[in-house]
Amino acid sequence: GKNTLHPMGWDAFGMPAENAAIKSKIHPAKWTYENIDYMKKQLKRLGFSYDWDREIATCNSDYYKWNQWIFLKMFEKGIAYRKSAFVNWCPHDLTVLANEQVIEGRCWRCDTPVVQKEIPSWYLKITDYAEVLLDDLKELEGKWPDAVITMQKNWIGKSIGATIKFPIENSTAVLEVFTTRPDTIFGITFMALAPEHPLVLELAKGTEYENEVNGFVNKYTTMSTRERNIVEEKEGVFTGRYAVHPITGEKIPIWTANYILWGYGTGAIMAVPAHDERDHEFAKKYAVPIKPVIKPVEGDWDYEKEAYTEEGILINSNSFDGLKSSEAKEKITQYLEEKGIGEKTINFRLRDWNISRQRYWGTPIPIIYCNECGIVPVPEENLPVVLPENVEFTGMGNPLEKVEEFVNTKCPKCGKPAKRETDTMDTFIDSSWYFLRY
Ligand SMILES: [Zn+2]
Ligand SMILES: [Zn+2]
Repeated sequence: GKNTLHPMGWDAFGMPAENAAIKSKIHPAKWTYENIDYMKKQLKRLGFSYDWDREIATCNSDYYKWNQWIFLKMFEKGIAYRKSAFVNWCPHDLTVLANEQVIEGRCWRCDTPVVQKEIPSWYLKITDYAEVLLDDLKELEGKWPDAVITMQKNWIGKSIGATIKFPIENSTAVLEVFTTRPDTIFGITFMALAPEHPLVLELAKGTEYENEVNGFVNKYTTMSTRERNIVEEKEGVFTGRYAVHPITGEKIPIWTANYILWGYGTGAIMAVPAHDERDHEFAKKYAVPIKPVIKPVEGDWDYEKEAYTEEGILINSNSFDGLKSSEAKEKITQYLEEKGIGEKTINFRLRDWNISRQRYWGTPIPIIYCNECGIVPVPEENLPVVLPENVEFTGMGNPLEKVEEFVNTKCPKCGKPAKRETDTMDTFIDSSWYFLRY
């Protein structure tokens, strides 16, 4: 189960204890402490010379009090905050899951297909530290395996590029896209929007493509994440509308395509089939023109056969012809900035950490909701907010919500009746600061 033994600590909060409670009517606290005793006995019999004086368990209030204290410090600094957003949701366990807790579209605990749901949650603003995290990886070179450093870099996923605005013909709407290759801007032959993009249906309305677009959007928005991930064939439909190239003024057809993901970037791309593999595959399938704008420094390349995705020398790009990709990226971005149609943008793959879990067996988030004062942090001297033991496990929703003595409290600011937050913290919070505890 989740009774993982770290050097001298038990990571003793989490889902298995709660699932055991629902199935067997054993209280998670009893289940967890009994497991710890049992494992400890086994470890002693194996003769390991651990110093048991230094044992800790994350489900003890003298440990999770400090989860709460750290949360309050982060709240003060504005790096623990609440917002409503789409999250991975397990409809069986009725809880949020981190991306790392979704395995091939399914819940890591119960194997139920995961769905997207919009709910308010607490987040830690780890994106504020993206640059620092990336920079400090340099200090680990030669000390950590290269493969691990690369994994960390990809997880942070820094990319430098430009955000570009594309006006839409006969519309006041503007399409915004992010690209790491502004040097290929003269090679755009179509725009592609995710099926979920709110503009898709709006644009197609009243055109002869309306029915086809509606069918396509309906097909992909009702598909589960898992089914969608399995579809390998690129598929798309023309919306019947055009964007305007911000430099040349040319008309660019707007498509909706299954390989554009909503919730990643702006959910829309400028497609450059000559220099992007996925756009190339799509263009070949639907006979969209392919226009080369970068040539390799050495050797030949047949743009009808495959995309050339490396950097090179600009061609077919007006006054930018002859520049190297690296120079052209700067100059074209500068040009877009001067014209007010684009700007240099640094994009990170890293997202803020959603730490809210809708379950009982975890650290209570030390927040109180007051009708008068809004979101009020529990004063430090009132920590720990202790997890009540008298709960009922029905298997439906968060059992904490039904514990009146817990939920109903007084506002620390105005003294009027108020309600406690019933979300508890993701169990990974517990192990995130072991090093401080030791
Ligand atoms: Zn589940
Ligand atoms: Zn109040």
